[in-house]
Parts: sequence; structure tokens; C-alpha cells
Amino acid sequence: MSQATIPRDDKCNGWYQQLEAPAPARRLNTGERADWLVIGAGFTGLAAARRVAELRPGERVVLLEALRVGQGASGRNTGFVIDLPHKRDLEGDDLERKHKLLSLNRGAVDDLETLVRCHDIECGWSRAGKYQGAVGERGLKYLDHYESLLRDFDYPYRRLNRDELTPILGTRHYASAIYTANTALMQPAALVRGLGATLPDNVELYEHTPVVNLTHSGGHWCATTPEGEVRATNLLLGSNIYSQEFGFLRHRMLPVMTFASMTRALSDSEMALFAAAPHHFGLTPADHAGTTVRLTPDRRLIVRNQYRFVPRYHDDLSERTRIRQGHRESFEARYPTLAHVPFEATWGGACGLSRNYTAFFGKVGDNAWMSGVHQSVGAARGTISGKLLAELATGQDSSQLADMLAVSGTPALNPPEPFLSLGVKTRMKQAAWASRSEL
Ligand SMILES: Cc1cc2nc3c(=O)[nH]c(=O)nc-3n(C[C@H](O)[C@H](O)[C@H](O)COP(=O)(O)OP(=O)(O)OC[C@H]3O[C@@H](n4cnc5c(N)ncnc54)[C@H](O)[C@@H]3O)c2cc1C
Repeated sequence: MSQATIPRDDKCNGWYQQLEAPAPARRLNTGERADWLVIGAGFTGLAAARRVAELRPGERVVLLEALRVGQGASGRNTGFVIDLPHKRDLEGDDLERKHKLLSLNRGAVDDLETLVRCHDIECGWSRAGKYQGAVGERGLKYLDHYESLLRDFDYPYRRLNRDELTPILGTRHYASAIYTANTALMQPAALVRGLGATLPDNVELYEHTPVVNLTHSGGHWCATTPEGEVRATNLLLGSNIYSQEFGFLRHRMLPVMTFASMTRALSDSEMALFAAAPHHFGLTPADHAGTTVRLTPDRRLIVRNQYRFVPRYHDDLSERTRIRQGHRESFEARYPTLAHVPFEATWGGACGLSRNYTAFFGKVGDNAWMSGVHQSVGAARGTISGKLLAELATGQDSSQLADMLAVSGTPALNPPEPFLSLGVKTRMKQAAWASRSEL
């Protein structure tokens, strides 16, 4: 019996390092029976487990996570919960689809905000909105196009020039940016841990409990873990790219890593660069191969850029020095007067993309449902699709669910190796080269 490749924690996640050490993990070391098995405690799995437990209060839900909650990609991102449809989804003439995506994403932002408020989850949650920033000619072209898409979509925004941006972003690096107001910013590891700690009573969460084998027979799903086993009637997959290890969406996902570095907290005098309130912001690049920047409420600067194709889900850690150097260059180009401020952490995380930019949501087998391939905007998409996956699986009917089914599809089949790796790597290199002025 071949074992699934499982996630591992590279211990580099800067967000996670800021949190207090958690209580020891509850690991599965027995044989359990459940009505519902949920695999993966990221945004998707947590939302699915929560919702199915609410809808079926008398049933037993077991949630298995390979790592500690917050150590996976959901706790490693740059903390934007974005309401707008993502890149490709904003293109094209299908306004109805765009409005469905917007309304689903807004549902996610609202759901997360409600949970943060109800459970006092300390994760720096703020409806700060986001900037989409352009550095040079290339970025400006993308930004103009983005502006035309927002205009067609009738989405309110504000365009700012270099002088207006300087006191907010603390740098004259950006020629122009578009501000949209409804994105929330947060500390992802803190949020995800908080979501894991506040699940309904009928959810049992086991951490450091990877599923190494998954079978279906006699009307039951059986998940084998290193020290135990769960037999369940129903299966909800929130394991994202790793789901292909169990045979789902095999050869249809592109596991891609992207990377971030975080500084220490800035001093009062260093913070003088950011003269305009609220003294924290999030900026995504107009050119998607450019650099994301955040100033957090606790005064840390974060840069995110660079991509690696990782068919086995992890990069070669020895490459991190090069990645960190790239981050350093992006940071110092923006903040030359902060060149003395060190990075405290550099980390990467793997997201699921697909060749046709399509996310998956639906049934994948007998009593088995999956949502994944969130195209690197899984904070919103994972949250809403996880919730709706539970609704689909329990036979609910709602306009949100109908919208989610309407905007989802089947990720395209990948070409066989070595053509896949060659093609993806070449494309990434070309994009990085073409976008070097925006990095
Ligand atoms: C550096 C970086 C920046 C990003 N920035 C943003 C951003 O600002 N906004 C945004 O929306 N998105 C962002 N993303 C993407 C976002 O993090 C993902 O889209 C999101 O985490 C997907 O959520 P998920 O729950 O579907 O999957 P994941 O977060 O990947 O969760 C899957 C979980 O399943 C677990 N698992 C897998 N296999 C097994 C197994 N065999 N047994 C048990 N458990 C298993 C994993 O450990 C993991 O915890 C970023 C990603 C990275 C890496």
C-alpha cells in the first residue's frame, strides 16, 4: 500500500513564530467512527467542519490535520481577504458571473468578520481595503486595464498618484495605485488558529495527524493515520493540493509555492515614513508577477514575490537564501532608508493553481465532496466554498450554493511530465523576467 505524501512544516512561517506556543496537539491514536470526516484544517476544511457541525448538531465530525493549525498555507499567506473576483475572473464580459463571485467573496469576508468578533479572535482583523500598485510602465499598463475592468463592473475605487501614495505607503516607489475599500487584512496564523479553537462541540480536531491512506469500501471512508484510523460515512476534502495524493483531481492541479519575508517591528522614528493614518496597509501588484507589500498593525513590513513549481509540494530549502535576497532587493528599492532593518523570517507556502484558472467545488465520489484549487486567493474562496461544501453535502438549497456551483468548474488536465515541469518553469521564468521592474 503506497503512502500519501504529506505536508511538512519547514518551521519558517513568520506569522506562526509570533504566536504563543500552543498546548500539546491532540493526536489520533485510536480507531474512531464518525458521521463526517474532514481532511485538512485550512480555511476550507475549517469552514466545512464548522458548517456541517452546525447543520447536523447530533452527528460526529472528525477533522484531521497533518500539521498544527496555522502551519499550513492558510497560516502562511499575506493576510488579504479579498472581495473582488481574482485576475482572470475579472476579465471577460460575463458581468453576472463577476457579481456572483463578488457576492460569494463578500459572504466570506462577512462570515470571517462575524467569527472574529463573536469569538474575540486576536488576529489584527481590519477592513483596511487594499491598494493595487504600479511601479513603472509595465505596471501602469496593467493598472489602466484593471481600472477599466472596475469601471465596467461598476465597482467603486479611488486612483492615487505618487504624491498621494507616499505618506500612506512610506515610499515614492509607486507611480500610481488603485484603492478599493472592502478587502480585510489579518494575521493569518492567528486567525486560522482562532478558527480551529472555536469549532462547535461536535467537531473533534486532531492535529499532527496526517492521513497516509484513504480507502472506500462497504459504504465507509477509512482514513489511516500513523497511529490510528477513522471510519466515516461522509468525506469532505479541505486538503487542497494534497487531495491528489488520494486520487482526487489527479493531474489537474499545479502546486506552486510563493514566498514572503517579514521585518522586525519598526521603531517610532522608522514609522515616521508612514505619515498618513491608519499606519498599516496592504498592496498587491498590478502586474501579478510583481511584489505584494504589507505594513502590519504591529509595524512589520512584509514583502511577497517569486514563484516555484513544486510537484512534491515543497521547495529546496537551500534556495531560500536566494529568495530572501530577492526580497531584500525589493524591500530596499522601496525603503532605502530602512536598509538597516533586518528580516526576522522568510517562508514559503504552496497553493493550488490550475492551467485554466478554474477552481473546483463539488462531489468527487460516493459521499465525498471537495473544494480546492483556489488560485492563490483561498482566504475568501476557501472560507465560503468550505461552508457551502457542507451545505451541498447535507442537501441544502440556497442562492449562495447555486452561485458557487455556477462559478466553479473542472481544472484542465495537465500535460504529462517532463513537458509539464518544463512548460510551467519556463513560463514562470519568462514572467519573472518581464516583470522585473515591478519586483
Ligand atoms: C506566501 C503566500 C501568500 C498568499 N497570500 C494570500 C492572500 O493574501 N490572500 C489569499 O486569499 N490567499 C493567499 N494565498 C493563498 C492561500 O494561502 C491559499 O489559497 C489557502 O491557504 C487555501 O486554503 P485551503 O484551506 O484550501 O488549503 P490549505 O491552506 O493548503 O489547507 C490544506 C490543509 O490540509 C492539510 N493536509 C494536507 N494533506 C493532509 C493529509 N494527508 N492529512 C491531514 N491533513 C492534510 C494541510 O496541512 C493544510 O493545513 C497565499 C499563499 C502563500 C503561500
